[in-house]
This record gives sequence, C-alpha cells and structure tokens, in this order.
Amino acid sequence: MKWPESVSQPVATPLFPSVVYSAESPDALDALYEGSARGYAYAREGHPNADVLARRIDALEGAENGLVTGSGMAAVTAAVLGILRSGDHVLGGSQLYGRSMRLMAEELPRLGIETTLSDPTDSSRFTEDLRSNTRLILLETVSNPTLRVSDIYGIGEIARLNGIPLAIDNTFATPRGFRPFDHGADLVIHSVTKLLAGHSDATLGYVACRNADHRNAVYDTSVTLGLTPSPFDCWLAERGLLSFELRYDRAEANARVLADALAETNGVRRVLYPLRTDHPDHERACSLLGERGGNMVSFEIDGGREAANRLVQAASAVAFAPTLGDICTTLSHPASSSHRALDPSALGRLGISEGFFRISVGVEDAEMLVGEFRKAIKAALG
Ligand SMILES: *Cc1c(COP(=O)(O)O)cnc(C)c1O
Repeated sequence: MKWPESVSQPVATPLFPSVVYSAESPDALDALYEGSARGYAYAREGHPNADVLARRIDALEGAENGLVTGSGMAAVTAAVLGILRSGDHVLGGSQLYGRSMRLMAEELPRLGIETTLSDPTDSSRFTEDLRSNTRLILLETVSNPTLRVSDIYGIGEIARLNGIPLAIDNTFATPRGFRPFDHGADLVIHSVTKLLAGHSDATLGYVACRNADHRNAVYDTSVTLGLTPSPFDCWLAERGLLSFELRYDRAEANARVLADALAETNGVRRVLYPLRTDHPDHERACSLLGERGGNMVSFEIDGGREAANRLVQAASAVAFAPTLGDICTTLSHPASSSHRALDPSALGRLGISEGFFRISVGVEDAEMLVGEFRKAIKAALG
C-alpha cells in the first residue's frame, strides 16, 4: 500500500503500530540487516515510535543511540544481562529500586552471576567489596525513598581505575538534575514511566551505553529477551516528554517549598530533601546536583499505622499511589508498598517507620499542596 501523496509533513509524530514492514526485495533486507540501509523489519527489533522517543531522551542525556525498552526493569535487565555472563560479579548500591534489588538478590545468582550490595554513600565499601571478577557497578543517583545521594565521583573513580563499567539508574534525578555521562558513567538507565513520560499512562524504560560493544550487546539481549516497548506507549511518552522540562522545574520548585513547610509543621519528626542542610548527604547533593534538588520529598510523623491511615485519608487532593513522577502529586507509604518485603530490622536500618511517607511532588499550586499536607498531618496526630 502507498500513502496518500502530500507535499507537507505531519507536525505530530504518527503512531506506527505495525508489527512488520514489507521490504522491496531480499537484497533490501540484506542491506537493512547489514547496516548499509536504514529501516525496519519487525517491531521487536525496533520501530519508529521507539526510535523517535529514544533520540529525544538521548538529547537530554547527552547520549548516542540509546534504546527504549518495555519498562524500566526491562532497561535494567537488558543492561545487566547484556554485559554480564555466568561467573561474573556485579556490585550494586544497597538502596536500589525494589525490583532491581530482587534482580540482584535472586535472579542474577540463579544465572550464576555473583552479586554484592554495598552502601552507595561510602566509596570505601565499594573498594572492600570489589572482586577480581567484578564486571559491573550499578548505582542510582538518588535513592528511594530516603533520597540518599550516591558517591558517584568516589565510586566512579574506583570503577575507572579498575576498568569496570559504571551503570547509573538516573530515574530520580532525571537529566535535568544530573547527566551521568558528563560525570564518567558508562551506561545510563531510566524508568521512562516516571518523570520523563510523566502522566502515569505509559510503562517504558531507556538504556544508553557510551561504548559501542556494550550498546550492541544490550540491544541484542533486549531483542532476544523480547524487552521491546509498545509503539503506543512510546507515542504517549513522547507527548509527555515534550513538557518534561516545564513539569520538572515547576515540580522541583514546589518540592522545595513543601519540604521547608513540612519541616516547620507540628508533628513532623524529620524531612528528607537533598538540598536541605539537614539532609545526611547535603554536601554531596550540592556538589553533584547543584541547585537541582528534584521533585521528591520524604517525611516522617509519629503515631504508627493508625496515624498513617488518617494522614492518607485526610490528604484527599493527593493520590495515594506507589509511583512517582506523575504531573500530579502522589503520596506513597513505603512500609506497606515498595518496602513491605523487608523485615523490621532492615526497615529500621533504612529509617522507614510506619510514619514514613514519600511525596512525588507535582505541578499543582504550591500553597494548595502545603495546605493539604498540613491539614493531613494535623488529622494524623488526632
Ligand atoms: C520505577 C523504577 C524502576 C522500574 O521501572 P518500571 O518502569 O516500573 O519497570 C527502576 N528504577 C527506578 C529508580 C525506579 O524508580
């Protein structure tokens, strides 16, 4: 079939749901697979909506030829399984995203890959935990939900001196807050589902590699394991991404206001925001992130589960949902969601009590948000 002829181009990106693409001849397919011609053959191997989105994220991250995957976890999986083989060792931050932690603790050992989780705020622990077969270091710029800031310079130096690729999951910081490739990273990973797409309507990931061998290996792993994204999700995410910078700046400004207001609210035991001077990694946050503190704020109140239930019910203008990065503010309670599998001592070490909440701040009016949380905290205290 031929398209209707047009001397003009669509302004909005067309959606290409096609699974297959017809070629002119076997020679044309050869040219495609050998790389002398460009195009598509089968959607699992790539499609226009994924590529359009990937080029936009590449531009934000200063990356080349990044790959969009079917979820953030697909991106983590493609990176890890693309680079590692049985007998290798991977060193990860001890506060990785829950499922990344599960990948490290359960799936990789099952495949003969050794794993160690070390404190990402203390590079000396990474030196101690390094092995002769360590082939990858995996960090997150800012951790969930305590917003700890990894020592990317210190651990990056260890990686560089030992020739070990450094992969950074930059989901929380986003390229607006921090660009890992400008600071020595070899791979950058995103859950595009979160701030980049920004509307809780598309599940996607992204992985980019500095080195072409890594890039080819990660691509092949992704295509073979079927980690491909849906064209419609890519199309939605591209639309969301067009307003990413506006959303991010507004949400970040709101987060600063809200963090300071919460710190002065009766009944709040502590507030975690990277750029506040009372944050445990404040100095590192300033040197790594500059003025970009991000849109995430965590806080803790007294009163256990009952108080937590009352707070959530009273904060009626805010969705209680275990995600982040939506254009609207969402509230999560790690003890009953993302961190529910941890035992009390592990929760205690992380400082996650029944009164601990994480806010993903959105673009609403800041005064409304402050009022809503003050009202909810008052209700929680009973
Ligand atoms: C959400 C998240 C992921 C996983 O992304 P999905 O799109 O949900 O698969 C990975 N890393 C971080 C830091 C995340 O927040």
